[in-house]
Amino acid sequence: MQKEIEQSAHKENLGGYHADEKGYYGEFGGAFIPEMLYPNVEELRRTYLDIMYTDSFQKEFHQLLKDYVGRPSPLYYAKRLSEKYNTKVYLKREDLNHTGAHKINNTIGQILMAKKLGKTRIIAETGAGQHGVATATVCALMGMECIVYMGEIDIARQAPNVARMKMLGAEVRPALSGSRTLKDATNEAIRDWINNPVDTHYIIGSAIGPHPYPDMVTRFQSVISEEIKWQLKEKEGRENPDYVVACIGGGSNAAGTYHHFLNEPEVGIIAVEAAGKGVHTGESAATSALGKVGIIHGCKTMLMQTLDGQITEPYSISAGLDYPGVGPMHSHLYKSGRAEFYSATDDEAMTAGLELSQLEGIIPAIETGHAFAIFAHKKFKPDDVVVISLSGRGDKDLQTYIDYFKLA
Ligand SMILES: *Cc1c(COP(=O)(O)O)cnc(C)c1O
Repeated sequence: MQKEIEQSAHKENLGGYHADEKGYYGEFGGAFIPEMLYPNVEELRRTYLDIMYTDSFQKEFHQLLKDYVGRPSPLYYAKRLSEKYNTKVYLKREDLNHTGAHKINNTIGQILMAKKLGKTRIIAETGAGQHGVATATVCALMGMECIVYMGEIDIARQAPNVARMKMLGAEVRPALSGSRTLKDATNEAIRDWINNPVDTHYIIGSAIGPHPYPDMVTRFQSVISEEIKWQLKEKEGRENPDYVVACIGGGSNAAGTYHHFLNEPEVGIIAVEAAGKGVHTGESAATSALGKVGIIHGCKTMLMQTLDGQITEPYSISAGLDYPGVGPMHSHLYKSGRAEFYSATDDEAMTAGLELSQLEGIIPAIETGHAFAIFAHKKFKPDDVVVISLSGRGDKDLQTYIDYFKLA
């Protein structure tokens, strides 16, 4: 009985900065989808919370996070980094997860959701290939058919991840229209879903998409802040840090890192976007600085667009932040002033990545390097506790680091 009461509390609208029952965060969110997609999205919307908060789902999800992903990920006190910036820095080590980043938390959750919905076929779209790899991984784990749509240009640029997906048994289908990048792959995936509504689940990889995706992805990723709370309690005697910091592409590692702190006003929320070559150079992905309200990927949010509403091609040295929008939660955090938004250039992110490597022996993903560039923009107090989401490891980026720093 107690359990049931607890679980129904989970299912309710969490209030404050969380999604309401229609998937709105303030004015952002919702589900703006073609009529023909309505049955698929509606099936998910009606059932996702009931499925997610059954005992059997929670048990299987947490068992896999533990035994397969390797959770809990450590909360590591970064001594030398703390000394350098004269503050207390903790790193949430999502880089130590199986497949090397936070994305697996979400794909594990969604593959279990797909199974409970009786689906046998998984589709996904990917830009850099990281979400594609995380999806192909869980499909192999569950013995499900996996089709990953990817722009033809991205297939050429991201050959190692394409090889990984194939090795894991996935089919990689090229998107041949438009600019042959992420948004074209997204269109192909949506077309596939419309044509295969009964047996197929579409795994979206960030805190974006039509409701319920942003909220569902956030809840799966919220294990990050759930762990931070008890880990910080053990280390500092208190659950709430003074700041949580994360980089933002679509916003899933950030959403998971912020989730349990959003309604705790004493916790400062910090977001770092990719400024590319500079916010105003025309080669950037700094959505909060440059974006306007529009509709992308089925939700209303901030996105980079021309005066007549065409989506602008974003640019960042990190493939995972090279996205023209942000999830609706982040648009609301920006607009309401709940979060501080910064943007870090390619150079700042690369420098911060090198610094973390040499101060702590941890080579981060370049996406993650953006979060560490916060120290170039903000000064913290000596007794501030600052938790940074170390969203992924840098193995995949080694060639970019080598070229940039002329290491070879
Ligand atoms: C994909 C990725 C990101 C960006 O995605 P979010 O949804 O914004 O978290 C950040 N870091 C790493 C390591 C990634 O792989």
